[in-house]
Amino acid sequence: MKKARREFFKKKLLGIREDILSKAKKLQEDTYTLGTDGIQDMADAASNSYNADILMSISDNDLKLLKEIDNALDKIANGTYGICEECEEIINEKRLEANPVARYCIACKRLIEEKGL
Ligand SMILES: [Zn+2]
Repeated sequence: MKKARREFFKKKLLGIREDILSKAKKLQEDTYTLGTDGIQDMADAASNSYNADILMSISDNDLKLLKEIDNALDKIANGTYGICEECEEIINEKRLEANPVARYCIACKRLIEEKGL
């Protein structure tokens, strides 16, 4: 994948992550106020090191998505983003645009779902 495309998906992924975190932050603010740099620290932090209080106000679905986003960002960093984790073929970019955290190509995804994995 070209660098410009990687940047495009990276921005997209960071945007989704920010949405989830700001949603969680809003929920948190109902109970008590965070340090002003709390969110920024989290954005800078390495994967899986989110503030524990924030994590408690994020739904299971969003938590799962956060993990997938971190996984995708890792792959962008090491150059394996957009490659199917199963067959190592390139994932169609249209598919990635619809689902930037896609880990498998459509064929493998279907196979995995059929097997119920
Ligand atoms: Zn595949």
